[in-house]
Order: sequence, then structure tokens, then C-alpha cells
Amino acid sequence: MKKEPNKMPLGNLLRNALGALMVFFLLSAVYSWLVGGTSNVPEISLSELSADITKGLVAKVTVNGEVVAIDYVEAGKVAQTKKETGTALSQTLLNLGVPKDKLDKVNINIEEQSGTGYWLLGLAPFLLPILFIAFFIWYLTRQMRGAGMQALSFGQSKARLTAPDDQKQKITFKDVAGVKEAKEELLEIVDFLKSPKRFLEIGARIPKGVLLMGPPGSGKTILSRAVAGEAGVPFFSISGSEFVEMFVGVGASRVRDLFQMAKKSAPAIIFIDEIDAVGRVRGGGLGGGNDEREQTLNQILVEMDGFEPNEKLIIMAATNRPDVLDPALLRPGRFDRRVVLDLPDRNDREEILKIHSRKKPFAEDVNLRVVAERTPGFSGADLYSLMNEGAILAARENRKKVSQFDLIRSIEKVMLGPERKSHLLSKKEKEITAYHEAGHALAASVLPFADPVHKISIISRGRAAGYTLKLPIEDRKLQSRREFLDDIAVSLAGYSAEKMIFGDLTTGPSNDLQVATGLARDMVAKYGMSEKLGPMAFEGQLGRPMFGYGFEGGVDYSERFGAVIDDEVARILSEAEKKAEEILTKHRPTLNAIATRLIETETIEREAFEKLLVANGITPKQKQDIEHQV
Ligand code: ADP
Ligand code: MG
Ligand code: ZN
Repeated sequence: MKKEPNKMPLGNLLRNALGALMVFFLLSAVYSWLVGGTSNVPEISLSELSADITKGLVAKVTVNGEVVAIDYVEAGKVAQTKKETGTALSQTLLNLGVPKDKLDKVNINIEEQSGTGYWLLGLAPFLLPILFIAFFIWYLTRQMRGAGMQALSFGQSKARLTAPDDQKQKITFKDVAGVKEAKEELLEIVDFLKSPKRFLEIGARIPKGVLLMGPPGSGKTILSRAVAGEAGVPFFSISGSEFVEMFVGVGASRVRDLFQMAKKSAPAIIFIDEIDAVGRVRGGGLGGGNDEREQTLNQILVEMDGFEPNEKLIIMAATNRPDVLDPALLRPGRFDRRVVLDLPDRNDREEILKIHSRKKPFAEDVNLRVVAERTPGFSGADLYSLMNEGAILAARENRKKVSQFDLIRSIEKVMLGPERKSHLLSKKEKEITAYHEAGHALAASVLPFADPVHKISIISRGRAAGYTLKLPIEDRKLQSRREFLDDIAVSLAGYSAEKMIFGDLTTGPSNDLQVATGLARDMVAKYGMSEKLGPMAFEGQLGRPMFGYGFEGGVDYSERFGAVIDDEVARILSEAEKKAEEILTKHRPTLNAIATRLIETETIEREAFEKLLVANGITPKQKQDIEHQV
């Protein structure tokens, strides 16, 4: 239940170690000062002392162990000496020839030495280093704990609790836009948590586990918080990776702890984020040394079996890799309720933008609908960061309101990374980039199934020297074979343009080639779009839904098929290249015109680009007005 500080970077750790060393030096200085004694008092020999006493100069002598402090009659004058061990000072002085009557005049004080102070002083040389080492170790472990050692608190669950009456952190369904089906399904859970009696009395079995699946940033985490907020129950959240740490057995005991805690405050929700970190298929041997993870997973299974519906506990979990989860987790009685979150469509995007614009003052020209239209494929998280970037842009330019232009610029920033205006291209590079991008743009405009061009630019952004922004006319759930083929040709058109115009190639198209090859491979191996192989899936089979990642693990087809797949991919790519080359050759004057304009102005927006096409006798893609499709 502790809120631990976040992991500490190494630099911090070093700084702390340095701090500890400083303390060490300070302590040793104090120690040597204590032991080394009072160095500013002049030291005299015993015979000098006896001479001084004989002369009647000494008023008082204080004996403390071996140290003899001397106060002279003369005000303020002091000195010290050492006496022999085992003999009385007066005896020594008499032996040194001090007359008895002179000695009697001196006030001799013997200080008691059996006090703790004396013992401590005697033990100090041994004790202080030990104390110091202990302190040093304590200090370091305290620091290390933040860095993931948890040496002193393993076992304890690290779940964070959001209490139902915590208004600041409270999130409800109102804060989550879109994902309508998911909300509807979760409403049942909310109802149960609100009034469990009603359900239990009628003998209804409420699911124990709900698994939210969807691509990153689609709102899984925020939606599960909203369920707790709607139901007004405590929300225990922990991330899958937090179970697994350095020590074996920690994960399992954390799970036990977490369930115990949650049961005490039932009705409640336990939320395990990114459950794939612990819930991967067991015995797969991926990554090696999985014992700890498997034990943790086993413990989760045991705990989920070990509580009854009347305990009013709901386990929610989220993942974007449902394909790698252990089937045992998905068995009835565990995470048998599955809720899929999709990326938002245009209306949802507008709603999400509205939610995130709540506290942002907008200029009159802001039209969130247009922003939503221009952001197909954006996740909720992308839209959130778009809004944020827009506000940052406005603030940096000292404006009080966010304008539409800020938001539009932010779309590209979120999509492609920040502009790098300082990254200046040489004249030659600029030319090559211009032809490369013109190649993409031209192919995208001529090929019937490619997405229309929204913008072309040769200002470098992120890692790309230039970019051609194509946006689908509408959100796509399905992609057809013809669209795949045209997309591949568009990807290769940059490469073809460089080859055609300059008779040479640069490293520029490397990403394009990856994209094209990936698309061709997916066509053949995933979607049965190759005539030679027919309807056969070699990757990402049923029951292994894909969410934007490649298939992990080994291949499960024979070498014979492997060779055919490679042949088919190569064939698709070379046909696409031929197609791109044909287009560029046929429309060479248009290619030149686009490239020349790019070199002049660096960016071409959609309208200007379409005018350029028309001037060269190409009809732009029918400008479908999205408003009419609603
Ligand atoms: P996930 O867990 O699916 O990766 P999150 O729930 O962490 O995604 O979402 C990240 C952020 O994106 C949220 O904090 C929220 O601000 C925003 N967001 C995502 N989806 C939505 C949505 N449907 N409605 C409103 N905001 C959303
Ligand atoms: Mg999340
Ligand atoms: Zn390119």
C-alpha cells in the first residue's frame, strides 16, 4: 500500500553514494578530533610540571585517566601532561623532587573515570567504524529500494489504492469517450458492484475476471478506473511487471497480499495492468528463467479460484497482447469476460478531443471536427498528446488561446515527430528528397486505390528527411488486396524516383522498403492474398489476434512453404516496382513539376497540390466530402 518513489536513475544513486562518502569524511574528522584530544593546550613534561609546582606557579591539577590538566595561578594559563599509568601522580611528583609542602598547596583533583563516557571513549576506536559501516549499509539499501531492490519489503503488495471518495482522482464514464460497446458491457459490472445483493439473491453468477484488450493508448487503463469511479468502490491497481522482481517468490506473495487487502475492503476492484508481463504462456521458454513469472501467474490463478462470487471482488486486467496470454487465464471462471477496445472512429475522436479540451481556452476558429477528420488511426492517447502539443505551441508563442492552426500543426508533430528546421539539407540532398517525395505523391494520386495526398514536405521531421502525408478518405476496418498492392507501389515510388532521376540510390528509402516488404509479407502469409499459396495463413493464426506486433516465437510451416512465401513476396514487390516506374515515366513532366515546386516552397498543402495535378492533366481523387457520409 505504499506509494514508492519511481525507479531511480543510476546518476542519482551515484550522487547518493557520494553524499554518504561526504558524511563519512565528516564523521571521521569529528572522531579524530575527539580522540586526538585538545591540541591547542601546550603539552609539558612531568619534570617541567614538578619544577613549576616547586616554583609555586601551579594552582590546580586535574587527573583524568592518564591526562593531567594543569591550571596555573596566572589567570588563563593552562597546560597538560601525561602521567605514568599505575602510579599515583603525587607519588610521581614527590619522586621527581617536589617538596611535600609545595605539593600540598596544589589542589589535586582525581576525576571519576568509570562513567559511560570513559567506556565509550575507550571503545570508540572499535565502535565508530562499525557504527559507520552499519549506517552506510542502511543508507545504501534505503536508496537502492527505490531502484528496485525492495530488500526490506518484498512480499508486500505494491498496489496503489484509489479510494472511492478521492474526488481528485475520480474518473467516470463521462471522462472516457467512444468505446461504446465496452462501456455497455462494463455497466453490468458497475451495477453488480453497486448493489451486489440484488444479483446474489437471484443466484446470478457475476464474472470474476474481465479482460480488456486493445491496442496501446485505446483507453484500457482509464476505462477500468472509470468502472471503479462509477461503482464507487476502492480500486487496487498494479502493473504486471511490478509483480516480478529480483527475488524469487516475491511475485507470488505480492499476489496473496493484494488479494487479501482487496477482500478486506470488498466490494472492490483489483486491476492488473499489462497482464501479459506475468500472464504469458507458461513453459514457453521465451526469455528464459521464467520460474518467478510462472509462480506469480500460478498464484493469480489460485487466488482467482479461491474466492467466491459473494466476496464481491472483481478482477480486471488489461493487455494489448491477448495472443500471448496463457490459456489458463482465459478459462471459464477466470478472465472469461473479454472486452475489446478499438481505436476510435471519427465521431469518437471528436468526442475524445472534446474531453481533453475541457480546460483549454480555444480561439473561435477551432473546429474539432476537422481535426478528428484528419486523424484516422490516432488512439485516445495520441489525441490527448495532440491537444497538449497544441496548447504548448500556443503558450510558446505567448498566445492566450489555442488556435486551429496549433492543432493542425500538432497532428503532424504527433504523427511524425518534431520538425527539425535546423537540420538543413544540402542542395543535392534537397533535390533528391524532393524527387523522392514527389514520386510517392504522384503514385498516390494516380493509383486508384491509394489514399489521397494531404501534404508533401521536405522539411525533415523525426528521422525522415521529408514526408508525404496520405490520409484515408474514411476510417478503414478492412483493407482489400487492391489497396495493399497500390500502397506497396506508393511506398516504392520514392525509391523508383531516385533511381530514375539520379541513376543512383541513397539510404533514404530504407524505411519505405521495410514498409513495402512488411505489407507484401502480410498479404502472403497472413491474409491469403497470394494466388500461388491460396487461402492459407502462416502467421497469426486464429485465437492469436494481432494488435500491431509481429508474431513471436518460431515459424510453424515447412521449408517448402517458406521458400514459396519468399518467392511470392519478391514477386509482389518487383511487380509493384514496375508499376511505380511506369507511372513515373508516363507522368515525368508532372514529377518534375512537383519536385521543382517542393524545392521552391518546401511544403505543398493539399489544395495547391491538387491544382498542380489539374494543371498537368491529372484529375485529383474525387474529393469525397466526409460530411455527406454521416
Ligand atoms: P491504454 O491503457 O489502453 O494503453 P490509457 O488508458 O492509458 O491507454 O490511455 C492513455 C491516455 O489517453 C488516457 O490517460 C487518456 O487521457 C487518453 N485516452 C485514451 N482513450 C481515451 C478515451 N476513449 N477517452 C478519453 N481519453 C482517452
Ligand atoms: Mg494502460
Ligand atoms: Zn519515402
